[in-house]
Amino acid sequence: MVARHDLTTDPELLAALLQARRGTAFFARKLNELSDSDLDGASLLPGWTRRHVTAHIGYNARAVARLIEWAATGVETPMYPSPEVRNHEIEFGATLSPIALRHLFDHSAVHLNVEWRDLPEDAWRHTVRTAQGREVPASETVWMRSREVWMHAVDLDNGASFRDIPVAVLERLLLDITGAWKARGTDKGLAVKVTDRDLAFGDTASVDATVVTGTLAAIVEWAAGRGDGGVTAVAPGTGAARTAPAAPKWI
Ligand code: ZN
Repeated sequence: MVARHDLTTDPELLAALLQARRGTAFFARKLNELSDSDLDGASLLPGWTRRHVTAHIGYNARAVARLIEWAATGVETPMYPSPEVRNHEIEFGATLSPIALRHLFDHSAVHLNVEWRDLPEDAWRHTVRTAQGREVPASETVWMRSREVWMHAVDLDNGASFRDIPVAVLERLLLDITGAWKARGTDKGLAVKVTDRDLAFGDTASVDATVVTGTLAAIVEWAAGRGDGGVTAVAPGTGAARTAPAAPKWI
């Protein structure tokens, strides 16, 4: 029998699932606002049209669903056989007819949702491996998906902004991004201050750091490499305003 509700009763996980589902609904809304010919237009991602973004989100749902099947059955099914296959799949998906592309998004999202809903409580703790090779509990897939749908809705470039993304999602995104910088040591000489949340990251102890300041939404937009329109930057020493440096890579 198929459950009508999530099998997990973990409140934290249920909250995360709600956030991912809201993000999917948000992406769906922005996608539905685009006409078929709008899909040919550029996204915020270099070299990608809105078709590429939509195909990527569809195939990402399928890839995440494979991890949930892995957690449920114990039979290893990776997200993608290789990075080349992943990229090729997106290139192919981008050539689909508008209706096929919209179906890909809809059906893959529904399928993933069913996989999540029907995953038994204990299986959420089973270990799976991300496309980057990280070993994580199946519960991590909820954040992996959440991050994709919220951020790529902005990448469709038809009106969504980082200010539309829930604060909890922005905060976790910033932790992911600044954590990646720290792990690679690419945040040397760079301090980040979030004005509306009393948060600071990076080389905050150094007097030789360039300080980038902005609201949480503006800082995440800049840190994710999506634009520096909302942030201000101050050069070390002189305290003079300067244009914000490009944020270090994080993926
Ligand atoms: Zn992505």
